[in-house]
Amino acid sequence: MRIDLHTHSRASDGTQSPEELVRAAAAAGLDVLALTDHDTADGWAAAEVTARDVGVTLVRGMEISTQLDGWGVHLLAYLPDPTYPPLAEHLRRVLEGRSGRTPAIVARLNALGIDLTVDDVARVSGDAAASGRPHVADALVARGAVRDRDEAFARYLNAGRPAHVDRYAAPLREVVRDVAGAGGVSVIAHVWGRRRVQEPGPDLLAEAASLGLTGLEVDHQDHAPQVRARLRDIARDLDLVVTGSSDHHGTGKVDHDLGCNTTDPEQYERLLAAAQAAAAASGRSTPAVVRP
Ligand SMILES: [Zn+2]
Ligand SMILES: [Zn+2]
Repeated sequence: MRIDLHTHSRASDGTQSPEELVRAAAAAGLDVLALTDHDTADGWAAAEVTARDVGVTLVRGMEISTQLDGWGVHLLAYLPDPTYPPLAEHLRRVLEGRSGRTPAIVARLNALGIDLTVDDVARVSGDAAASGRPHVADALVARGAVRDRDEAFARYLNAGRPAHVDRYAAPLREVVRDVAGAGGVSVIAHVWGRRRVQEPGPDLLAEAASLGLTGLEVDHQDHAPQVRARLRDIARDLDLVVTGSSDHHGTGKVDHDLGCNTTDPEQYERLLAAAQAAAAASGRSTPAVVRP
């Protein structure tokens, strides 16, 4: 059984529609796919219809931008009720912050002598729930200012680069609690990603676990083998589920092909059992796993 628990569609910053993404997952031989667009459930309905069509099991989720003691942390939430008011409020503030940031980034790029407008960004962001830095990057590529998204981030958009603008990120401690309140489970995505430091460290991860965090995404393209080994040890010590995923963005991110990392079926079952318990405890009406 091949399980990929972290992918993006055009509902955020992927380049495929939810339908195209689910079809691509079937073509790639995946049995289980989670759709986890940034801070939105907008792609869920379309993905559900296609999953039934093509016979892929679909786990509905999202990737929420949070922060923990100053560290930006992407938190994957699986199977929450997105209408649960405290969760909906976090999503609203994050999306609002992201769209509001685009004009500020464009102004900085203009000051650097790059000819780009907010309309250029809107053209490439299309039907995404919010325009964000990946869309600014795509607009820069379309302008011929950079070769690809990676160069756009490295030269201009990453923290510390000249066109970087900060934005709201929800406090992780609150979001873990509110995802549970919404009947879902949470997993920290690409825990140590491309950071040069291994932060948030074991103590903060232990605290997150005590607050109800369910798992760590260990197998991710941004983690070197020794990082994966260290995170696997921490997950075992904290009794957290270990996941592996592609973080696929269509053609928006190279080297993140569907199924390039997968989740062990036993770990997947643990995640679902935790989600079932959270759903029962919350009393909310949560999205079921879509089984063909
Ligand atoms: Zn992420
Ligand atoms: Zn992602």
